[in-house]
Amino acid sequence: MPAATAEDILDLFRRVGALLEGHFRLTSGLHSPGYLQCALVLQHPREAEACGLGIGDRVRGLAPTVVLSPALGGIVIGHEVARALGVRAIFAERQDGTLTLRRGFSLAAVDRVLVVEDVVTTGGSTRETIDVARAAGARVVGAAAIIDRSGGTQHLDVAFHALATVSLPTYQPDACPLCARGEPVVKPGSRV
Ligand SMILES: [Zn+2]
Repeated sequence: MPAATAEDILDLFRRVGALLEGHFRLTSGLHSPGYLQCALVLQHPREAEACGLGIGDRVRGLAPTVVLSPALGGIVIGHEVARALGVRAIFAERQDGTLTLRRGFSLAAVDRVLVVEDVVTTGGSTRETIDVARAAGARVVGAAAIIDRSGGTQHLDVAFHALATVSLPTYQPDACPLCARGEPVVKPGSRV
């Protein structure tokens, strides 16, 4: 399978309705010219596999030995990346508000961890997941996501790869340039 380009990935997202462009009122109440929902791509196993292969191609040189993802959004793509690399896939989940390894998942000093998420927005959950791996004594060799919507502001201290980058600014309704142009605002089908 040929490596997917960023444009291939964005076309896939548009085709399944995971990336809508227009004028949206998000669950937060903010307005945005775009709506992104990775789960709508990942619900299709073949597309999820293709994304995993694409990320796998980009990170293979980091020689990860385990993929660690934050629940829930990172689990499906983390599993597909791990499949592409032939390594373990584990996830961290919140317990009393703190991201934690549960279910008997463990990391050790010999592990080379790749942190994988569906989308990186501020980088906050990626950093938190990196901290989980380091606290367990493992080495974090990189991080990856299907979509980088951080606008380059994620500030991670490890190598970072994304299949595609999208710019999706958000606006307060009273400062929204799309509203100012009189464009009707719509609510996307599910939570952003
Ligand atoms: Zn607006």
